[in-house]
Parts: sequence; structure tokens; C-alpha cells
Amino acid sequence: MVKNIELIIELIKKQTENYENAIITEIGDLTKDPFKVLISCLLSLRTKDATTALASKRLFAAADTPEKIFKLDVKQIEELIYPVGFYKTKAGRIKEICGILIENYNSKVPNDENELLKLKGVGRKTMNIVMTYGFKSNNHIAVDTHVHRISNRLGIVKTSKPEETEFELLKIIPKKYNYDINDRFVVFGQNICVPVSPFCSKCKLNKNCKKIGVKNSR
Ligand code: SF4
Repeated sequence: MVKNIELIIELIKKQTENYENAIITEIGDLTKDPFKVLISCLLSLRTKDATTALASKRLFAAADTPEKIFKLDVKQIEELIYPVGFYKTKAGRIKEICGILIENYNSKVPNDENELLKLKGVGRKTMNIVMTYGFKSNNHIAVDTHVHRISNRLGIVKTSKPEETEFELLKIIPKKYNYDINDRFVVFGQNICVPVSPFCSKCKLNKNCKKIGVKNSR
């Protein structure tokens, strides 16, 4: 069992409390709609939070249900979500997913990890985001590049792929923190434990952190 896991998470929460929430958590909290969480998460892949926020807002203002989005032309979806990364591919995929939700799931996002993973373009991270921030499951942890990097630097896991990190974290994180992991670690990774040269000198975890793989810090 990793020592001090609760302390580590509390310290991450403490030092990110004055930063804005990660965009997907925000959309989940504001809309309480798994469909919007799913679509925003697809838009967010390889895209900055601010761009995702505006693209989601434009898209949902025009169409906010699977039926309404499915009625749009791919070209219209492209224009609404531009400039998110890979907007052309994402526009086609979003329309396709809306069609599948209408056809197979009564226009609802399935509250089931295996069914979610059947949707094209939905990998483990997106599935876990939808389960955690759309359906408020506390049995899932969404691991992205920030969660993976920070968990390894801290030495709470020793893994080479995000998927391995997900399964290791599920073993060691008390469930009450599952919701915080992606949300807080993303903010922490964007602002303090950044990919290159993290701000260790001002990090409250400096004494607890093994800094594995950190070559330069500030
Ligand atoms: S001490 Fe440095 S490497 Fe460790 S969590 Fe803080 S910023 Fe990241």
C-alpha cells in the first residue's frame, strides 16, 4: 500500500483550489448531462480547454441532443466546432456516434463501460470521463497524460502506459477520491507539475515526491 496517498491527494487539491476546473468536469457539473460530457470529451482530444469550451458552447447552442446533432450536415458540425484539433474527423465521428445512440440506445448515452467502449473513437480515457463526470460513478478513474505523468513522478505507480496507470490507481486510491483524480491532476499538471521543468520549488508535495524521471525543475 502506498503511504500517504490521502495526504498527497489532499495537497494536490489544496494547491489547485484557486485554479479553474478542467473543462469536462465543468461541463459535467453544469449540465449533469452524460451526452454533453461525451461530446465535449471527444472535442477536447488534442485541444486546449479554452478552445473546447467555446466549440462545445457553439455546438450545443445549435444542437444539444443526438437527434438534433444528427440532423446537421457534417460540414455544419465542422464549422461549429472549428478550430478544435482534427475538427473534420471529429465532426464525422460525432455525427456517426449520434446516429448509433439514436439507433441502438434510445438516444441515450449508455451507462455501461463496455457499451461505451463499442462507440468508435471512445477509448478508455473517454469512457472513464463519461462514467465519472457524466454518470458520477466512483468506480472509474480517467487517466490522461497528466494523471499518468504525475502518478509516476510521485512514485505512487510505476507504469509505462496510461491504461496500466488506470488499473494501478484503482487499486490504491480510496474511492472517495476517484472523482478528484482526473479533475485535480489535470489542473495540477497544467499549472504546477507541468510536463517540462515542473515547479517543484513551490510545490507542497516537494518533501513527499520521489520526482521520478524529473531531470530539470524550477
Ligand atoms: S514536487 Fe515536482 S515533480 Fe513532484 S509533484 Fe510537485 S511539481 Fe511534480
